[in-house]
Amino acid sequence: MGYRSSISTRKGGAYYGYKIHASVCTATDLPLAWTVEAANEPEQEQVPGLLDATLARGFTPGTGVLDKGYDGQPMYDACESRGIRPVIALIETPAVKAGKHRPPACEHGEWTFAGADVKRGATKWRCPTGECQPASTWIKASRLHPLIPHGTERWKALYRQRTAVEREFGRLKHEWGMAPLRVRRIERVRLHVDLTMLAALASALLTERT
Ligand SMILES: [Zn+2]
Repeated sequence: MGYRSSISTRKGGAYYGYKIHASVCTATDLPLAWTVEAANEPEQEQVPGLLDATLARGFTPGTGVLDKGYDGQPMYDACESRGIRPVIALIETPAVKAGKHRPPACEHGEWTFAGADVKRGATKWRCPTGECQPASTWIKASRLHPLIPHGTERWKALYRQRTAVEREFGRLKHEWGMAPLRVRRIERVRLHVDLTMLAALASALLTERT
């Protein structure tokens, strides 16, 4: 799960902004991997590295939940190529406005989701009454039709778990003094964030063991 957040410092009238990008576990709210970049760096570029770092640390997330700031086919590919099902909010692009992310439909109504085949990289859909010939069809997985389809209860339930990131960032800021920062060079901001994250993780480990 990725996320962006901004922390900033103000010194000598100039304004410096950085963003923490983190992969956060939705079961524990704890950060699994993180990086600090200048606020003007595109956040999407951080996702492959965060996913790799998460996997390299031995975590095997089944799904990755990302807000619409990360919407785009490359993010779906970045997740799927690592065996992670993407759950990403859609931006209102022309294709979405035209309803191309909706299930297929016929005179009998909107077709129903009949499962995903990960190996095939496609989802199966059925005519609601079964009267159409053929009565079912496969749709290749993409941003508009991911393996966990937009609009399904499963998608919605997974997306709601994204609040884990908000909670963790709230804790880092308010309980661990992540903001405001007194330093402005990115190397120092990174060190500050690393130490803060490690302190938060060490504290969680201690709580777990006592
Ligand atoms: Zn039909």
